[in-house]
Amino acid sequence: MSKQRVTLTQFIIEAQRRFPAATGDFSGLLDNIATACKAIANSVGRGALTGHLGSAGSHNIQGEEQKPLDLIADSAMRRGNEWAGHLAGMASEEEADVIAIPEAFPRGRYLLLFDPLDGSSNIDVNIAVGSIFSVLKSPRPGEAADLADFLQPGTEQVCAGFALYGPATMLILTTGQGVNGFTLDHGIGEFVLTHPLLTIAEDTQEFAINASNERFWEPPVRRYVDECLAGKSGTRDKDFNMRWIASLVAETFRILVRGGVFMYPRDSKNSQQAGRLRLMYEANPISMLIEQAGGSASTGRDRIMSIRPESLHQRVPLVFGSKREVERIIRYHQEYASGGETEESRSPLFGTRSLFRSP
Ligand code: MN
Ligand code: MN
Repeated sequence: MSKQRVTLTQFIIEAQRRFPAATGDFSGLLDNIATACKAIANSVGRGALTGHLGSAGSHNIQGEEQKPLDLIADSAMRRGNEWAGHLAGMASEEEADVIAIPEAFPRGRYLLLFDPLDGSSNIDVNIAVGSIFSVLKSPRPGEAADLADFLQPGTEQVCAGFALYGPATMLILTTGQGVNGFTLDHGIGEFVLTHPLLTIAEDTQEFAINASNERFWEPPVRRYVDECLAGKSGTRDKDFNMRWIASLVAETFRILVRGGVFMYPRDSKNSQQAGRLRLMYEANPISMLIEQAGGSASTGRDRIMSIRPESLHQRVPLVFGSKREVERIIRYHQEYASGGETEESRSPLFGTRSLFRSP
């Protein structure tokens, strides 16, 4: 006897039925996003066969080298979502300004922000990448959205999610009632619910950080990592494992499935920017998913989703994952800010132990 399978389409329509006032607009939007992700999965999955690896020879607004697949994914998201009348505007990592809905199509009530291909530096080495998206309500439904319409804090998101193009293609989604994971069944071309109500364990023994930046870290981050490295012989009294995939979507899915903490903290590497990851189409949607799954997401100092955005491509420090670990990291930042030097010097490991210096 095979179990009844729930497709994404069925899931969305059943969710819509619980809101009698729903117009179907939102369901239509989700369906278009899912279709765009399937198209991107197809392009990414063909890898070197299409000659789309390597550089596109151009740079985006962030000064990052664009890959041909960055541009293919950007166009798939735009084209897949511009026509249906659900959106008042879009914004993409790959485009400097707000993307207008073409004149030929009606303007709707939602705003869509996306990172069309996250982790694209991993494309050439066949490591999982993905697409991240965030949906806001337009303050001026039916009219062409401008920049000010987009600058809403993450708490205003009505939906957030990402597609993961790994060994299996997945779609991870929240509309504010928990987080559900769907796996693409290539046989029927549909996403099928495989990971209902993902929940992040409060405790963990895994942390993820780019250790090559260690010399730029602030003392609270150094303290946290030092204590993890000390393992059973230190104050934490347990051994940790370190993970670093350098693909935000893959790190997020790992944490949703088996817990953990991810850090791209504020550091002194580039004084021009507060952090590495982009608030509006990376940190905010990931934070909504993480909070909806019972975890926490912070800059190390403030809740990510409470930040009032100042620009479309603003960067923020990002620390997220298992609740108690994130709370610990926030506490280390607070202790450091309120005369942390004594706190630091109390740590027997401070200044004597690190990833690349032996104790
Ligand atoms: Mn990205
Ligand atoms: Mn990207």
